[in-house]
Amino acid sequence: MSFSLAIVGRPNVGKSTLFNRLVGKRLALVDDQPGVTRDLREGVGRLGDLRFTVIDTAGLEEATDESLQGRMRKLTERAVDMADICLFMIDARVGVTPTDEVFAEILRKRAKHVILAANKAEGAAADAGVLEAYALGLGEPLRLSAEHGEGMPDLYGTLQPLA
Ligand code: GDP
Ligand code: MG
Repeated sequence: MSFSLAIVGRPNVGKSTLFNRLVGKRLALVDDQPGVTRDLREGVGRLGDLRFTVIDTAGLEEATDESLQGRMRKLTERAVDMADICLFMIDARVGVTPTDEVFAEILRKRAKHVILAANKAEGAAADAGVLEAYALGLGEPLRLSAEHGEGMPDLYGTLQPLA
């Protein structure tokens, strides 16, 4: 496996949807309701001719509880430390939230390499959120739609030189 990629970000932005698209099997639980997946999952990702380890982080659901938030921060930090590259995902339809800022801070301090992805970016409703993402200071956001498979050539173009 050429590199490992951790998909991180707050609940419901579409991390498991991207994981499933890259791994091609339903190894990660995707659900409309927050609160379903609670762990780290690993699979073999495929994108064009690239083969890599993908780590799906889960479990930030119900993070209003302080101790749970702390636990989930640890989980994210574990994934960040395991991975060569972190794909930090935000929801472009929602824009940047305070929780996203917390993640961005962890990644700025800790990650070896960060790819910023603005997901749910199909359609013009996502334009404002994509623009907001620039303010995170993590470089140019990659415009993705994990659900519809949009932006995969751009993701390939970003990963390929890192492989
Ligand atoms: P996670 O909590 O970050 O792992 O998010 P999930 O992958 O479970 O997705 C949360 C919700 O967002 C689900 O209802 C998905 O179908 C939906 N979703 C994921 N990707 C996209 C996308 O690209 N566009 C839209 N509109 N919805 C998406
Ligand atoms: Mg998930």
